[in-house]
Parts: sequence; C-alpha cells; structure tokens
Amino acid sequence: MNAFDTHEVRNTVTPFENVNLFACDAALQEALEREGGGAQRASLEELGALLGRAETLELGRLANSHTPTLRNFDRAGKRIDEVEFHPSWHQLMSLLIAHGTHASPWESGEAGAQVARAARYILFGQLENGSQCPVTMTYACVPALRQAPSIAARWLPKILSRDYDPRSLPVEQKRGAIVGMGMTEKQGGSDVRTNSTRAEPVLPADAQQIGAQAGDDVFRIVGHKWFFSAPQSDAHLVLAQTGETSAGLSCFFVPRFLPNGDRNQIRVQRLKDKLGNRSNASSEVEFTGAYGWLVGKVGRGIPTILEMGSHTRLDCVLGSAGIMRAALTHALHHARQRVAFGKPLSEQPLMQNVLADMALESEAATAFAMRLARCFDQAGDPAQAMLARVLTPAGKYWICKRGPALGAEAMEVIGGSGYVEDGPLARLYRELPVNSIWEGSGNVMCLDLLRAFGKTPAARDALAAELALARDGSACGSGGAATLSARDHAALNARAAFACFADALLEDLAAPQQDEYGARLLAERVVLAVQAGLLLRHAPDYVSSAFVASRLTRDVGGAFGRLPAGVDCKAILARALME
Ligand SMILES: Cc1cc2nc3c(=O)[nH]c(=O)nc-3n(C[C@H](O)[C@H](O)[C@H](O)COP(=O)(O)OP(=O)(O)OC[C@H]3O[C@@H](n4cnc5c(N)ncnc54)[C@H](O)[C@@H]3O)c2cc1C
Repeated sequence: MNAFDTHEVRNTVTPFENVNLFACDAALQEALEREGGGAQRASLEELGALLGRAETLELGRLANSHTPTLRNFDRAGKRIDEVEFHPSWHQLMSLLIAHGTHASPWESGEAGAQVARAARYILFGQLENGSQCPVTMTYACVPALRQAPSIAARWLPKILSRDYDPRSLPVEQKRGAIVGMGMTEKQGGSDVRTNSTRAEPVLPADAQQIGAQAGDDVFRIVGHKWFFSAPQSDAHLVLAQTGETSAGLSCFFVPRFLPNGDRNQIRVQRLKDKLGNRSNASSEVEFTGAYGWLVGKVGRGIPTILEMGSHTRLDCVLGSAGIMRAALTHALHHARQRVAFGKPLSEQPLMQNVLADMALESEAATAFAMRLARCFDQAGDPAQAMLARVLTPAGKYWICKRGPALGAEAMEVIGGSGYVEDGPLARLYRELPVNSIWEGSGNVMCLDLLRAFGKTPAARDALAAELALARDGSACGSGGAATLSARDHAALNARAAFACFADALLEDLAAPQQDEYGARLLAERVVLAVQAGLLLRHAPDYVSSAFVASRLTRDVGGAFGRLPAGVDCKAILARALME
C-alpha cells in the first residue's frame, strides 16, 4: 500500500461461479439415479458445467437488469404489440430450449424423461427464473393441445423443436414456437369461473377467410386477461365463456398470427412492473375479436386447462427447489471463505446450525421434487398418478412456501452484501414468492389437496403406500434399544418418530376431509412425511435423523438455525456443497 491508499481490500469472497452445478450436488445426483433418470447423467454433468460458468451466470444478471419493454405501435402508428428483450434473454431461452426443458418428455416418451427434465429444470433454476416461465407454459400446454388433434398436428412439430426462434412471424415460417396461457382476469384468478371474456362461434365461411381449415372450431373472443405472461408467445391457451346462458368456460388456442398471416386481435395494454421475475414480460391484454380455436369440448375449459395446470405446478416445485439450492450454495460458499472473529463463518457453531438447517430444507425439497417428477413419468400407473394428484398441490404449497424464508436467511448469511444487487442473492430472494402465488396460490393448493383426499380413498392409499416404503419394520415407540451406539440410536429413533408421524397423519386422513380451516397444516404434514420417508430411505443417517429431529419430532416454524444438539452439522455441510 502507498501512503494515500485508503485501505486494503481483504476478507472478501470469490463469486460462486465456474463450478459444475450438478457435480457439486450429491442430493440431485442421487435422486436422478434412483428416480429413473440415470441414463441422462452424462448430459446433466455437461449441463451443470455449462450453467455454472461465470459467463452463463452473467446472462441471468443481464436479463434482469435490462428488462423487457413494450412497443405497441410501429413508426407509422400501426399496432404491433411487440416486446423487446435484451440479447441475454434470447440466449437464456435458446439454452433452455436447446436442452429440451420445454418439451423433452414429449419427444420420445423415454422412461425417466420427466425425471431427467426435472433435474435440468432444477439446474436452470439456479441460473435464471424469468425465462423458466415461458418454457414451463410451453411444456405444460402439450397434454392439453393433444386434445385438439388438428391443432396438435400443425403446431406440435414447432413446439417440440429444439430451435428457439424469437421472430415475430406466422408459425409456418418459424423453426420453433412457444405457448403461454391466459386465465386470470381482474375480478378473479383463483376462481376462474368468474371469467367475463366471451367467445362466439364463427361461421365456416368467415373462418375460411382467415385461413382456417375445414372442420376447425373457430370462435371470436372479446374480453381481457389481467395476467398474460410471455405475450410474445406464438399462441396462448385462453379461457372464455361460451354461449348465451354461459354454457361454461371453454378453452381456446389463440395464435398471435392467423393462418392468413394477419396479426390476431390481441392488444397488449401494458407490462406488469413486478417484484421479481423481471426478465420475463407479464402483460395485461385485451381481445378485440381475437380468433381462437376450440380445444377440448365446449364448456369443459377448466378440466382441459387443468391438464396444463398440473404440469405447471410440478415446475413451481422444481423451480423453488432450484432457487433454494442456488441460495444455499451461494451462502455456504460465502461462509467457507468469510472470516469473522478469527474463524470462517462456516466454522462458527451457530452459523453451522443455520446453514445445516438450510441444507436439510434444500435436500428435502430436491428429493421431493424429483420423486414427484417420477410420478409424472409413471402417470400410466394409477397408483403413481394418484400420488401425483396428492403430492402436486401439497408440494406446490409447502416447498414454495419454504423458499422465501430460506432465501431471506441466505441473504443474511452473506450479510449486507447479500442485500445488494451486485450479487445474486437479492434477485433470488425476489424470485421466490411467485412460485407460491401463480398457478394456484397457497390456500387454493391446500383446498385442492382436501378435494383429492375427499374424492376417493385411493388418494390416502397412494400416500400410505409411499410412506410404508420407509417404515423398514419400525413402529411408533420402537426406538431406544440400550445396546446401540449414539449414532444408531439416532437412526432408530428417527425411524420410530417417522412411524409415529406417519401413523398420526394416516389416521387423521381416515376421517372425511372437510376441514378447510386446517388445510395448510395438513398439506405441510403430507410433504414433511414424504420428505422424511425419502431421506430415511436414501440419504445418509446424519441427514435423515436431523431432518426428523427438527421437523417431525418438533414443530417446524420460526427461523432456520433451530436444529437440536447432537446434529452432525459438519457432515451435512460437507455433503451439501462438494467444492
Ligand atoms: C408474475 C405473475 C405472472 C402471472 N402470469 C399469469 C399468466 O401468464 N396467465 C394467467 O392466467 N395468470 C397469471 N398470473 C396470475 C396468477 O396465476 C394469479 O394471480 C393467481 O392465480 C391468483 O389469482 P388472483 O391474483 O386473482 O388472486 P385471488 O384469486 O383473488 O386470490 C387471492 C388470495 O386468496 C386466496 N384464496 C382464494 N380462494 C380462497 C378460498 N376459497 N379460501 C381461502 N383462500 C382463498 C388465494 O390463495 C390468494 O392467496 C400471474 C401472476 C404473477 C404474479
């Protein structure tokens, strides 16, 4: 230092970058293998390295600093309703689509394809989240679109394409297409039955004028949507009321360009100024006689679009697991380097408690998300489909709910710099609440879970079968044999505590489920039981017994850092981030 240097910069931390996001994540690697996606391990390893590179991570920062802008008119005053994005957005979209996160399970139906995609989605969740929104909607639209074979025949080849094509052109001229969804209106998002948007059938002669094919069910749509993400998409699935006396909601495929090359009548009013997910354009739109093609049957719009909803909800779980993993790794990496009071933060007992508690949450979220993805792979098996019916709303509620708390704690691990936009933590934190809000907010998910249990005893049976796999002969009250080591004691006690927790849950579920008031607690218990079961079966004892001791034998709640004495935090943290 020379005489005028004010200070030496020291005790600062290198950015968490140029790491292989897959190779450093034992929980994800193990889950990929056991849930049936192991054949794609090599490609995930490659993706983990690519996404962890400094220049790839920088795309996330750029896309959120240079947010999209709306251009309603061209220079001559004609309506164009175009959204302009920073080049980094297009690079992110290209990456996501090239790696099949928008469609890979629909390409071949190969065993384990949903699980492998889920692992990719979790990795991308650590890079950038706004771009995951259009990709999720595109992925989720496919099962719904298959209900309209003539649209599917024309559009699926473009939707399944791995070639991202952002050009604003009729789909016939494009190499690839993306699809969004429009349900939420000003007067109601959860209760879409209140949708006021109307659709009237078009005469065949008029339909021909816009280039529709003979036999197409074409309608004209008048109304609005209060949230309409990715308005630049090539088409949206839209709900609208059909018939004079409201035959009910129907689902329509509304392309951006008509087959004759004209722009469809979709006016983008403005883009939302959002807390997070800022790279992604979410808009308000009006349909001033937009043409829409009927998907499914008239009046069956909700069940039709629900095909889409279960897949978008899966992605909310995967996305939150990915963001939590990112928040954890940045925090842990920081704590290993940053010294306070003479020792790295990661060696201070209280910080170890905080970090290990977060690591347990993140590992449990990953294990649950990947297990859920396997249910989607095995949807042809009624027991797995029923398990998905239960775990999707429960997981969407509880895992997305845990995210913001974990994100806030990760910022605090980094201290003041965690709160500043120079690093990624502030952005990750802002991303976390949205997965809980959109695609069915927390309460709506818990009520949906109640409906699932209320409708058929098969829902409880599917959960019971999953939990039974982790019992390993142990019964409630079977812990505590005198001749065992302390470690074996912990493992045995964890099994016994799990058995008690599972018994009590299943006993409560044996009664008819109508308790709306207590539905959140029920959803939480379902997820905790499944997470504990997965960890007991597949994670090291020091992970599973700490999870059970902190979440089953005592109530979850309050801040992170409430692990009881005796937990092997060092082992948990060594596993959590293998640098
Ligand atoms: C960034 C972003 C992007 C979005 N993109 C899209 C999009 O592309 N397409 C689209 O259609 N929508 C989109 N949405 C809208 C989103 O799906 C809705 O906001 C959400 O479904 C909730 O609807 P709402 O806002 O009308 O709230 P409401 O329906 O008014 O709900 C408000 C609250 O009440 C709760 N609630 C509702 N009913 C009950 C009940 N019976 N008992 C107890 N509690 C209840 C809900 O859980 C919620 O917490 C987006 C939202 C955001 C934030």
